[in-house]
Amino acid sequence: MSTTPTSSRPRRLSMPKLTRRLTNVVIHVDDNDNVEPVTPTSVPSRPSTREELDEKAKSNWKKHMLPEKNDTDSIEQDIVHHTITTLCRGVYNIDKLAMYQATAHSVRDRLLEDWNCTQEALHKENPKRCYYMSMEFLIGRALDNALNCLKVKKNYKESVNNLGFSLEDLLVEEKDAALGNGGLGRLAACYMDSTATLDYPTWGYGLRYQYGIFKQIIKDGYQNEMPDYWLNFDNPWEFPRTDIRYEVRFHGYVATKMNEKGESRMSWEGGDKVQAMAYDVPIPGFDTKGCGNIRLWSSKPLNTFDFDSFNAGDYERSVSEQTNAQNLTSVLYPNDNHLVGKELRLKQEYFFVSASLQDIIHRFKRAKCPWKDFPDKVAVQMNDTHPTLAVPELQRILVDVEGLEWDDAWDIVTRTFAFTNHTVLPEALECWSVPMMEKILPRHMQIIYDINLFFLQKVERDFSPDRELLKRISIIEETSPQQVRMAYLAVVGSHTVNGVAALHSDLIRKNLFNDFVKYYGPEKFINITNGITPRRWLYQSNPALRDLITKTLGSEDWATHLDLLQGLKKYADDAAFQDAWADVKLQNKKRLADWIKTNMNITVNPHALFDIQVKRIHEYKRQFMNILSVIYRYKSLKKMSAEDLEQQVPRVVIFGGKAAPGYYIAKLVIKLINSAADVINNDVSIKDMLKVVFIPDYNVSLAEIIVPASDISQHISTAGTEASGTSNMKFVLNGGLILGTVDGANIEICEQIGKENIFMFGVLADAVDDIRHNQKYHGLFIDASLQVVIDAIQGGEFGDPSVFGPLINTLTYGGDYYLISTDFKSYLQEHTVVDDTFRDRAVWNKKSIMCTAGMGFFSSDRAVRTYAEKIWKLKPFKVGV
Ligand SMILES: *Cc1c(COP(=O)(O)O)cnc(C)c1O
Repeated sequence: MSTTPTSSRPRRLSMPKLTRRLTNVVIHVDDNDNVEPVTPTSVPSRPSTREELDEKAKSNWKKHMLPEKNDTDSIEQDIVHHTITTLCRGVYNIDKLAMYQATAHSVRDRLLEDWNCTQEALHKENPKRCYYMSMEFLIGRALDNALNCLKVKKNYKESVNNLGFSLEDLLVEEKDAALGNGGLGRLAACYMDSTATLDYPTWGYGLRYQYGIFKQIIKDGYQNEMPDYWLNFDNPWEFPRTDIRYEVRFHGYVATKMNEKGESRMSWEGGDKVQAMAYDVPIPGFDTKGCGNIRLWSSKPLNTFDFDSFNAGDYERSVSEQTNAQNLTSVLYPNDNHLVGKELRLKQEYFFVSASLQDIIHRFKRAKCPWKDFPDKVAVQMNDTHPTLAVPELQRILVDVEGLEWDDAWDIVTRTFAFTNHTVLPEALECWSVPMMEKILPRHMQIIYDINLFFLQKVERDFSPDRELLKRISIIEETSPQQVRMAYLAVVGSHTVNGVAALHSDLIRKNLFNDFVKYYGPEKFINITNGITPRRWLYQSNPALRDLITKTLGSEDWATHLDLLQGLKKYADDAAFQDAWADVKLQNKKRLADWIKTNMNITVNPHALFDIQVKRIHEYKRQFMNILSVIYRYKSLKKMSAEDLEQQVPRVVIFGGKAAPGYYIAKLVIKLINSAADVINNDVSIKDMLKVVFIPDYNVSLAEIIVPASDISQHISTAGTEASGTSNMKFVLNGGLILGTVDGANIEICEQIGKENIFMFGVLADAVDDIRHNQKYHGLFIDASLQVVIDAIQGGEFGDPSVFGPLINTLTYGGDYYLISTDFKSYLQEHTVVDDTFRDRAVWNKKSIMCTAGMGFFSSDRAVRTYAEKIWKLKPFKVGV
C-alpha cells in the first residue's frame, strides 16, 4: 500500500463556518451556451479487438443463427447433448442434479438467444436506458420462472419425463440465488422481472457475492448460521464476461495536475487497485422476446502485477494482497434494516459503484454524444443509499477525468440519479465516518465536502440563513468524528426521491427530509408504492389458483394485466366458485403440511387455521408480540373445559425468518418461539387446538410454498416503522387475509380490497411519539393478559427463564420501545375476531376471493411503469416484432 502525501492536503470543512472550497474549478453562474459542448474522451478499448466482418462472413453467420426449436424431440436432443458435452456425463451416470443442470443449460440456450437479440437491437437503436443499482438481488430459483416466461414448460415436462425424470424433482435441485437479505433485495428482483416483461430497456447492477445470505439452522431452539456457498456447483444462470473488466482504486492520494487544455485538475493517484469482472444474469420477460439483464461484479486481482511497487523479496505479500482483492465480494452483509459501519462494506459499495459507472459510461461513449446528453441517455435508480457513492464518483469522473466544469458536471449528475428511500429507522440510516472515508476514498471525501459547501451556500443565499437549519440539513454531521449522512447526499445528488408506500412517503416528507422538502419544494419527493411480480408470486407458486383464475376469467391475461383480477368479484358470492376456491386453499395447505412433516416431522392439521408470520426477525416487526399472544392462547386453552375446548378453532401458527447473526434480542425471539413450540406441541391436554412451527431457513423458494397456504398472515410492525412490506402483498394476492397494523402498504391494501376484508388493530403512527414520551416519563401499563404471559415465561414454563430475561426486559426496564404493551390488548381482540370469522366458511371464502380480486394495484408492473413515467422518462423498447 502506497500513500504519498500530497502538497495540499485539504483542511476539513465543517458547518456552519464555511470558508474554503476544495476543488479548484471555476463556477459559472450565468454562463450561456456559447461554449462548445464537452464531448467524452475516447472509448477505452476492451482487451479483445473487434474487427468488422465482411458481407460474406456476415451472411454465413446469419445462415447458421437458427432459432432453437421447442418441440419435445428437439428439447430432448438438447438435454442429452448438454449432458454429454457440458457435463461430460451420459446415460450410465445421470442423476437428478445432473439432469437439472443439463435441463437448465438447454433452457439457458433459449434465453441467451433472446438476450442477444435484445442487446443487438438496443445497441443499434441506442434508446435511453435505465440502470437499477442495488447491492441486493434476492432472486431465488430461475428454472421454473424461465420455463413459464418462455412458455415451454409443458413440453419440457414431457421431454424430461421421456428421459426418465420428473420436472418437479428437478426444479428443487436448484439452489436459490440468495444475494439479498429480505424485502429490499426481493423488490429489486421483482422489478427486474417487470422491466423485462414490459420491455423497458433496464439493466440491474449488483455484486456477485460468493456467499449469499447465510443458511439458518436451528439447534436446541437457537439460530446457528452456516455459509451459503451457492456457487459450489456450476451456475447455469450466470454468464461470465471475461472480457468485461474494470479497475477499481482504493486509498491513494490526491494530486494537482494540468490537463490538455492547460487547466488545473485534481487527480486521484496511487493506492491499491482491484479488478471488477462482469457476470451477466439473463432476466426473462413473461411472454416477450425481450430479455433483461442483471450485471453482477466479482472482484479479481489485477491480472498484471504492478511491477513499480513490486520489490524483490516481497513476492509472498504481493500474492496475499491478490487474494485480499478477491475477498472483496465474498460475502453479503447479513443485516436487514441495520447499518454495520465496517470498512469492507464501504469498499464493497465503492467497488460496486465504480465498476457499474465505468460500464455505463463505456456504453454511453460508443454513441459519441456530448456529455450534456448523458441524462437523456442514462437514468440511474439507487435502491436505498447503498449506491450513493455513485453521486461523487460521477462528479469526479466528469470533473477530474473528463475535464468538465464543476457546475456543468453537477447538472449532469443531478439529472441522472434518483433515489429510493426504504426506511426511517435511525439504526438503518447509513452514516460513514469522515476519517474512514478520507482513508479509503480521499478524493471522494473532498468532493462530498464541496458538494455540501455549494449546497449549503445556495440554501443560505436562496432560502434561509438560519444556522440551525444549515446545521440540520448539512450532509456532514458535526459529531466527533464527523459523519457523512448518505441519505442526505443521495437527496442532494438526485432529481427525484421516492418512498415505498403512501404512509412512508408522508413520513419522510414530514420528518427525515422535512428541511429538504421546504428547500426544494414538494415535487421532488414522490411516492411509488412497492409491488410484487404476479408471475412468481401466483402464476408459478400457486398453480392450482392460477388455473382456477384462468378458467374463470377465460384467459391468462391477468398475469400481465393484474387489474383483470377484478373480474373475480362477481363470483365472490357464488357457492360453487367458493368451494372451488376453498379447495385450492386446502390443497396448498396440504402441500405445506407435507413439507413440514417431511422436513420437521411435525404433524399439522390442514383444516386448522394457518396463521403465518414469515419475514426477517426484527424487534420492529414484533414477532415477539406474536409469540406472546400464542402463549396467551395456550394458557387460555389450558383453562378451558373439555366442551369449550372442542368449540375452538384449531390453529397452526407458523413462523419463519432469519435474525442478523449479531442481533442478540432477535435471536432470543427465535429461541422463545422454539421453546414455546416444544411445550405447546407436546401438550396433549389441548387436543391439537394449537401447534407452533418455526420453519428454518426462510428463503424465496420456501416462501413460494408457504405464501399460498395462509389463511391469515401477520404484518404487525409498530405503526410507522415498516416502510412498505411486500410479503403482505404476496399473501393477499394468494387469497390470504391480513392481520396487521395500520402501517406501510397494509393501509393501501386495505383501501384496495375493502376494510371488511382485513383485520386491523393497534395505535396509529401519529400517536407513537406521544406514547413513547409518556411511557418514558410516566411508566408503561402492562395489561393483565400480558402479565399472565410474562409470569408464565418467568415462572419457567418454557425452560430456564434466565435465558429470556434480556428479552422480557425490553418490555419492562427497556421501556417497550416498539409498543407491544400498548397494542397487546387490541391485538388479542382482533385474534378473537379472526377466529369467529373463520367459523363461517362462506363468509371467509368470500373475503378470500375479494382479497385476490382487489390486488391488481400491487403488481410490480404498475410500480415499474410509474418509475419509468415519473422518474426515468423511459419508453418500452420492443424487440423481435
Ligand atoms: C417477500 C420476502 C421478504 C419481505 O417480507 P416482508 O414481510 O415484506 O418483510 C423477505 N424475505 C423473502 C424470502 C421474501 O420472499
